[in-house]
Amino acid sequence: MENILTVTNLSKKYGSLLAVKNLSFTIEKGNVYGILGPNGSGKSTTLGIVLNVVNKTKGEFSWFNGTTSTHEALKKVGAIIERPNFYPYMTALQNLKLVCKIKDVPENKIEEKLELVGLLDRKHSKFRTYSLGMKQRLAIASALLNDPEILILDEPTNGLDPQGIHQIREIIKKIAAQGTTILLASHLLDEVEKVCSHVVILRKGEKLYSGSVDGMLASHGFFELKSKEPEKLIQILENHSSVGEVKLVNGLITAFLKEELSAEFLNKLIFDKGITLSHLVKRKESLEEQFLTLTKNQSN
Ligand code: ADP
Ligand code: MG
Repeated sequence: MENILTVTNLSKKYGSLLAVKNLSFTIEKGNVYGILGPNGSGKSTTLGIVLNVVNKTKGEFSWFNGTTSTHEALKKVGAIIERPNFYPYMTALQNLKLVCKIKDVPENKIEEKLELVGLLDRKHSKFRTYSLGMKQRLAIASALLNDPEILILDEPTNGLDPQGIHQIREIIKKIAAQGTTILLASHLLDEVEKVCSHVVILRKGEKLYSGSVDGMLASHGFFELKSKEPEKLIQILENHSSVGEVKLVNGLITAFLKEELSAEFLNKLIFDKGITLSHLVKRKESLEEQFLTLTKNQSN
């Protein structure tokens, strides 16, 4: 696999606030990555550092296996990290022509990119007449004018209505399907689930998980159990190699699984040890529950 970006032990301090803590991850070519975390978890700071607009405090990052300088590498990166800003009294086409001049790229990709984001028929409309969703789509077209290796987006659907959100997500998927690597920051779990193949989950600047979105989904689930003898039951559960954490709350025992274990098997095992259960349910955490578990204690 070809590495697009490697981040190694990156840290950022704003005064005494540690916004990014010892963060490491790798972006490989062709995948769609999400940086997922609640507001203030360090997503924008991380993107700002690798795009050279925020100074790092410690650590390293390298683009394209360190084969070029960051300055050269960033010419192959398309990024939208701020609200789209174009000249309001100029048309979409005029604005993109100007971007081509500034970036020193040919104008021959303009129509193709406007088509991709669904704005070709509005190319002669002034930017100020665009909806927020259209402005965001124009920003995506603009970022793609030089056919970048990777497209970076910070909260691309923030502030949009449901239709606008859907359009942006479909466009991102289309760009990814054409082979462009994508890195997007989002505080929305379902956005990452819908759009991304890989995810780095941040909480207060720290990485909690990185890997495939499917891998995050692949929890073995947990059992909920009740019995008249909870202490004895907890002991049996804790001694079982397939069981991880065991919790007792208001008489309800929750036993998280480290590997697959069927309800039938567990029921018999417990019965054979002389305990009868009054309640046994096997559940799988939803992705949302897993995310909330991963990011709990966010406020303290
Ligand atoms: P996210 O994008 O995940 O919402 P940010 O990277 O914007 O998170 O912020 C991470 C932390 O750093 C937050 O606590 C935020 O208040 C702080 N922060 C961000 N930018 C600055 C800045 N320019 N000066 C001081 N603190 C900042
Ligand atoms: Mg942010």
